[in-house]
Amino acid sequence: MNQMPTRRSFAQVLLRTVTLAHGGGGKATKDLIDDVFAREFDNEFLEPMEDQARLVMSALAGQNDRLAFTTDSYVVTPLFFPGGDIGKLAVCGTINDLAVGGAKPLFLSCAVIIEEGLEMETLRLVARSMAATARAAGVAIVTGDTKVVPRGACDKLFVTTTGIGVIPAGRELGVGRAEIGDRVIVNGMLGDHGAAVLAARGDLALETALESDCAALHELTEALLQAAPGTRFMRDATRGGLATLLNEVAAASGVMIEIDDRRLPLREEVRGVCEILGLDPLYLANEGKIAAVVPAGEASAALAAWKDHPLGRDAADIGVVTTGEAGRVTMRTLFGGTRIVDMLVGEQLPRIC
Ligand code: MG
Repeated sequence: MNQMPTRRSFAQVLLRTVTLAHGGGGKATKDLIDDVFAREFDNEFLEPMEDQARLVMSALAGQNDRLAFTTDSYVVTPLFFPGGDIGKLAVCGTINDLAVGGAKPLFLSCAVIIEEGLEMETLRLVARSMAATARAAGVAIVTGDTKVVPRGACDKLFVTTTGIGVIPAGRELGVGRAEIGDRVIVNGMLGDHGAAVLAARGDLALETALESDCAALHELTEALLQAAPGTRFMRDATRGGLATLLNEVAAASGVMIEIDDRRLPLREEVRGVCEILGLDPLYLANEGKIAAVVPAGEASAALAAWKDHPLGRDAADIGVVTTGEAGRVTMRTLFGGTRIVDMLVGEQLPRIC
């Protein structure tokens, strides 16, 4: 009997860290969900605590609107980094994957896999960050799941978010729709997320003031579609960076894309980090940057609309869709030469998002 922890110490352990009991599906699981997640996410769709959220479909969409549906898992390390954390990243990333399709993001799910021993306070901070980010974006987290795995079976915390949104009728965006003469625009500084997370890992002894650009971009995508209704395509330049995204457009549209290094919005610090580590900023992950392909005639209206928004202040026209070798992306360099910008081969930075 004496091997059993006393009631008090057991309760304290329960409060401070996540234990396997929290994943057992019983009272501890319910307490964890109620106390950490439901309390923070708090909305009418989650409140009944059924196995699924129930949404009135006719209230979501009109005639010929389409449902946008996406999912993503987040395994970033460290869990907290300058400019964000895994929770904010998960909510923003899923909102952005909906928004770049022209959708208005509406509802998210949140599933977490927690490593036994994670500080309860850490989990609480992540849940709070998710709730605040979702609320600010007008999105509700309406269903979810928690699992706890033994020490070593995962690293602290993994988060999966699924999102749904509605694409209004008439919006036709696609990676294969770029046309000769179109302009390529981005909404600001590239590579901040990748460089900031790398520096935050601490093992490179890099001292920078860099912050992740992690942000929900649904207002920017909406502003773009209003200002430039002919927009062909948008995508958030996450893992694989701008280079990978542009290669996908060039391949799918059967065109060449030519960008100009002198036009790329890049912080000196990001260039510096890349130089030291032998990385290419074109491949660094972003979590608050979109590239869009717009008809030349709408490019200045598109840029003006972005520059009007705090998340688009540094927006730039970085290049053009041209004839030439289909599927190829090239860049005019600072020294006047031209180089090929390939797809990312392999993984430049693991666990960046
Ligand atoms: Mg994406």
